[in-house]
Amino acid sequence: MMERVYLDNNATTRLAPEALQAMLPFLTEEFGNPSSLHGQGRAPARALMAARHAVLELLGAEADGEILFTSGGTEADTTAIRSALAADPSRREIVTSTVEHAAVLALCDHLERQEGVTVHRIPVDGDGRLDIEAYRAALSPRVALVSLMWANNETGTVFPVEGLAELAHRAGALFHTDAVQAVGKMSVGLRGTDIDMLSLSAHKFHGPKGVGALWLRRGVPFQPLIRGGRQQRGHRAGTENIPGIVGLGRAAELALCVDHGAVRLLRDRLEQGILARVPKARVLGDPLDRLPNTSCLAFDFAEGEAILMLLDRAGICVSSGAACASGAMEPSHVIRAMKVPFTAAHGAIRFSLSRWTTAAEIDRLLEVLPPVVDQLRALSPFGAEEVK
Ligand code: PLP
Repeated sequence: MMERVYLDNNATTRLAPEALQAMLPFLTEEFGNPSSLHGQGRAPARALMAARHAVLELLGAEADGEILFTSGGTEADTTAIRSALAADPSRREIVTSTVEHAAVLALCDHLERQEGVTVHRIPVDGDGRLDIEAYRAALSPRVALVSLMWANNETGTVFPVEGLAELAHRAGALFHTDAVQAVGKMSVGLRGTDIDMLSLSAHKFHGPKGVGALWLRRGVPFQPLIRGGRQQRGHRAGTENIPGIVGLGRAAELALCVDHGAVRLLRDRLEQGILARVPKARVLGDPLDRLPNTSCLAFDFAEGEAILMLLDRAGICVSSGAACASGAMEPSHVIRAMKVPFTAAHGAIRFSLSRWTTAAEIDRLLEVLPPVVDQLRALSPFGAEEVK
């Protein structure tokens, strides 16, 4: 069977074998409930604590806050946003951006429509960088929370969250960052920053799916999203997903050792290789500050979905825009927010690498992609002429 080349690591990643090994005992003999007072609960309780420390260490925030385990990035985002609104009912505004993940944007749409919250969606420029003037203008004593992503899932553009958080605090607002794509793919250090809450998700950095965490700075006002038992000090009721949390903890330990520079070198080989071989291709996202593993390229006069399908036929997995937008022929909300010209907006493809991506895999892509784009452009009413 043909070996698949997996270049869709912003959608999800392969579980690290070490994470699987760490999880297995908690799916078998160590099945206990960490809240139990008897012996069977002891190992799960200890494992929960160890995972908490591992995540805090990955975030460079050992002494500054606590970890709340969740069912993933979406629940962490929802908890942060709803908690901030509940903490100070006199503040009924949220500031976010036009390029956030649906986990934030769909909730903000709902809060605006159903719960009378005012939402400021700050625009970005053609490279996906936040409009800082518009951001400053939106901050006021009415704002309960700023929620801005650390790194964009489609383009990899990194927002300067440390400075943005400082500005939020000056206006008396809390600051949450959706760091689901940043954690494990670049170094994130929370110590000394004004960030109050941070969301992460295990399956984006070789942990299991369905488990994530919300980091809360010590002393930040908090209201639980899920109420019930006293698990996690009442901050998130429900018996903990111990195998998942153990996998998350092990993945966090492994993420500390990743050589992001090596990933960046391979990503640059991919990008430069494509730009050298395919005319009328452009890189989307901030040229100066992007995730080292992500490359979003737009090909004029070629349909992204069609490129994706033909690459898939050759055993290469990529994404066109956000994974959740696949299947729709519309350019994603991120591409639209960046006002990418029409001829390119429909031909955007995201390549996202992992620490296991090899040079041979990149070279395979560089062999397969150019004829695929040529073939599609030949079918386009404008493509063949325009790219000459
Ligand atoms: N936020 C960002 C930036 C993401 O990329 C994703 C997943 O694609 C999420 C949130 C949602 O995370 P989860 O799938 O763990 O709910």
